[in-house]
Amino acid sequence: MRRRAHLRLVTSFEAEDATLTAVLGAEDLAEELGLDPHARVTCGWHRCWLHQCVASPDHVIPVTGHRWCRPCGSPLEVFVDETTAQLFCPTCGTRTPDTAANRQVVRACRTSIAAARAQ
Ligand SMILES: [Zn+2]
Ligand SMILES: [Zn+2]
Repeated sequence: MRRRAHLRLVTSFEAEDATLTAVLGAEDLAEELGLDPHARVTCGWHRCWLHQCVASPDHVIPVTGHRWCRPCGSPLEVFVDETTAQLFCPTCGTRTPDTAANRQVVRACRTSIAAARAQ
């Protein structure tokens, strides 16, 4: 019953980062079980909420098209506010190029912002 051991994290009293720690752990496990890593609201690499690190160059993934403008072949800049994230191509000026991968980035950031605020 690995799942039960894992659930103890959720009831941890370790103050401010308890929610983040719990969600990170849950998503680490879910990813092992087949969750698309790009659907995560926490970052398994930077160990924080996705919107806190999505602007990092590590989140530009040309192969999958995440934070990437294919026509320009350039990384998209990210603007995060209190409710959502916007992608912007500095080369062609397109806002959030409408691809499945970029929509997924925005959707995951929105969820991550909402989750972090719900603490
Ligand atoms: Zn990250
Ligand atoms: Zn572009």
